[in-house]
Amino acid sequence: MAHYENLRLILGDQLHAGHSWFNCVEPDTLYVIAELKQETDYVRHHVQKVCGFFAAMEHFARQLTAAGHQVLHLTLDETSHWANLDAMLSELAQRYTINHFEYQQPDEYRLSEQLEKMRLPRGIVPNVWDTEHFLLPHGELCHYFKAGQHVRMESFYRRMRRRFNILMNGDEPLGQRWNFDTENRQRLREEDIEVIPRPLLFSNDVSAILDRLKKHGIKALGTPAEQLPWPVNREQSLQLLAHFVQACLPDFGRFQDAMTGNGEHRWSLYHSRLSFALNCKLLTPEEVLNAAIARYRQHPAEVELAQVEGFVRQILGWREYVRGVYWANMPDYAESNVLDAGRILPDFFWTGETRMHCLREAIGQSLEHAYAHHIQRLMVTGNFCLLTGIDPAQVDQWYLGIYMDALQWVELPNTRGMSQFADGGLIATKPYAASGNYVSKMSDYCKDCYYQVRERTGARSCPLNSLYWHFMSRHRNRLERNPRIGMIYRNWDKMTAGARSALLDRAEGILADMESL
Ligand code: FAD
Ligand code: SF4
Repeated sequence: MAHYENLRLILGDQLHAGHSWFNCVEPDTLYVIAELKQETDYVRHHVQKVCGFFAAMEHFARQLTAAGHQVLHLTLDETSHWANLDAMLSELAQRYTINHFEYQQPDEYRLSEQLEKMRLPRGIVPNVWDTEHFLLPHGELCHYFKAGQHVRMESFYRRMRRRFNILMNGDEPLGQRWNFDTENRQRLREEDIEVIPRPLLFSNDVSAILDRLKKHGIKALGTPAEQLPWPVNREQSLQLLAHFVQACLPDFGRFQDAMTGNGEHRWSLYHSRLSFALNCKLLTPEEVLNAAIARYRQHPAEVELAQVEGFVRQILGWREYVRGVYWANMPDYAESNVLDAGRILPDFFWTGETRMHCLREAIGQSLEHAYAHHIQRLMVTGNFCLLTGIDPAQVDQWYLGIYMDALQWVELPNTRGMSQFADGGLIATKPYAASGNYVSKMSDYCKDCYYQVRERTGARSCPLNSLYWHFMSRHRNRLERNPRIGMIYRNWDKMTAGARSALLDRAEGILADMESL
């Protein structure tokens, strides 16, 4: 059996070809990249997500081998007899009589803990590297985030703009403004829908992976795609980035919050669909930012500052921010539930079969494509779970499983924090709770819905209307003193007692029988 001095582990979301590990070829170092049951089974994933990760890992292993590195790529066929990652690494350490073991800091707490606690043969002490992916190194997160402390995203974002000198003019923001939200966030008119660019889809043959999943009894959800449309290597990821900056960036901010049921092949609207490539590190955030900014600088007449700033805010702001909140607050964050939400997630989240058009679209699209854009996640599915008080653990499981891009470091703060307010306001300064009016304003869902968005009570009234008031009423003690919400209680108090009790009765009826919605 061959001997290697050093064993380096590459996790499925660490496919970063630019990492300094790969600067030179070290014949004494063996890279291990492995499909593992512990990763397919810790939550029920969308089948396209599992295929996407496995295909990307295979491509990455091939790319490293072609560059001259020693690589051991193991499929489920070779790893299924190992109980977990620890067992695999222990055996490989013995088999190759290694003296050193190295890994990159995992982004997920569970894997970080597992690797930290792992004991290797002959007392080998692991050496941990940064992933060199994010703009903020892991070791610096503590300078920005503290456990239990609310950090305003806007302040963090401005610090990041200054620190990395992005869209700056000296110490001032380019265009004299940090934020262009008022110009952005328009709804789509019918004529806008016709010109939405079609998403760039790839055709990656994943039939062998699908066979493997079947053979090893891996349980997954969602619609399989033998020709996987997601980018699974660097080349495709760069093509998707180029497509985004060319075709979508000019209207990115403007229609960032819009939703439509008439999109047909345009289900991702002007969104980038880059989150999967970014989260498995096929792309760096820096190169994504640079590509968007370069397009703006070269074609200022086509790409306005408002559009590019809207995009930069997502990558430089939100993406780095949620990671900071996650690491400062784990592991307690994963248990937070300040609103004591405990209802069961309705079955239609797994089928999309509901008469509520907004939910049918958002869930149906998620099952079909393993994708929904931010506002569908936050203001449709997330809002429904918030208003109905679904147990956040169940909400997390659903989000963590269904989306291509779902990894706990980014899923959890978005779900528990931003969408469910389970952290009591560590991320959001108020719950993102909305009645049907918001959906009606930002989409065309309501006009084709069984329910009537203008009605608040009665069997055909939009369920979100009464659920909204039920939510506000049951959490009055906690929310009333919030200056961003106080006004809502004044409106509630102005209603007649009869109107209030009709709303609460309608909501109680819905909560008692959510499956029939
Ligand atoms: P775009 O709209 O094109 O945005 C560009 C990029 O900005 C994204 O690719 C992403 O990397 C980043 N970004 C935008 N918003 C956020 C955000 N709130 N947090 C972190 N990064 C952001 N994103 C994930 O990557 N994984 C998740 O598991 C995930 N779960 C979410 C759960 C909920 C309840 C909500 C409300 C949001 C979640 N998000 C998650 C954030 C966001 O919805 C997705 O990043 C985005 O929809 C991905 O699609 P896109 O690449 O087309 O994004
Ligand atoms: Fe959703 Fe209500 Fe509009 Fe129907 S009427 S699509 S349930 S917001």
